[in-house]
Amino acid sequence: MHFALINNNRIEAQPKLQGICSCCSKPVIAKCGTRKIWHWAHKSKTGCDNWWEPETEWHRTWKNNYPADWQEITILNDREDEKHIADVRTVHNLVIEFQHSHIEPQERNSREQFYKNMVWVVDGTRLKRDYPRFLKEWKSEGISEVHKTDKSGIFKVWFPEFCFPEAWLKSSVPVIFDFLGDGSMEDSEGLRNTLYCLFPQVGTHARVAEISRKAFINATTNGEWTLRVQEFRNDFKKQDELERKEHQQTMSRPPNNVKYTWRGIPLIGGAKEYRKRLSTSYKPIRKGRR
Ligand SMILES: [Zn+2]
Repeated sequence: MHFALINNNRIEAQPKLQGICSCCSKPVIAKCGTRKIWHWAHKSKTGCDNWWEPETEWHRTWKNNYPADWQEITILNDREDEKHIADVRTVHNLVIEFQHSHIEPQERNSREQFYKNMVWVVDGTRLKRDYPRFLKEWKSEGISEVHKTDKSGIFKVWFPEFCFPEAWLKSSVPVIFDFLGDGSMEDSEGLRNTLYCLFPQVGTHARVAEISRKAFINATTNGEWTLRVQEFRNDFKKQDELERKEHQQTMSRPPNNVKYTWRGIPLIGGAKEYRKRLSTSYKPIRKGRR
């Protein structure tokens, strides 16, 4: 953890300090080595938040985009029988969870149910193949069929399973994929600095938005994020409804614009005459001579 309580103040880990966990109130000790980032660790691992994962540099960098008193907030459910530490909770009650490790869809779902108004930020560099796979699809060299929409920066994706790890596809909240990692990866086109937001699917295909790191941090900090996501989702629903109606109309429209011809000459009788000629022209031909 980034913070522990000492005399009720939230303090960062410093060599030889001891503190109290702000979630379970048990003693924690400062771990200030050279291999891992400086952090607080429980003396005994039992009884605290079982969702907690060891922090990486990536986690810490992300959390530090937000004020210190928004980080590591203990949240209690309505029944007051379960509590978890949210990585970030903004003053607008948006929870931002930074996920580096693999997570099973079931656990992902539990966390979404618990925090409700939340957004995931996922480290897209956990597996080596994840980014090259995404890039191939995103440049439409794969089979995903990434289509631009009339809203700049928003794309329709027919097969999101070829772009993103399976565990995130059915999320009920937006998932941000961050492919920058620790920043040491090759990125000649500067594509890694863009974040990709997979929206919860409302229609027949997934929607993905390209968003700059700065725009995401700003929108989540000033509270616009939740409203914007809701607006997008309403838009998606409207678009899908419109497309569905158009499709239905095309299917039910009578073919009044078809011109019937017979051996290149337009037929005055239209379809009726065409069918008549068709039926008379295919009389069985007798083989042989009489
Ligand atoms: Zn604890």
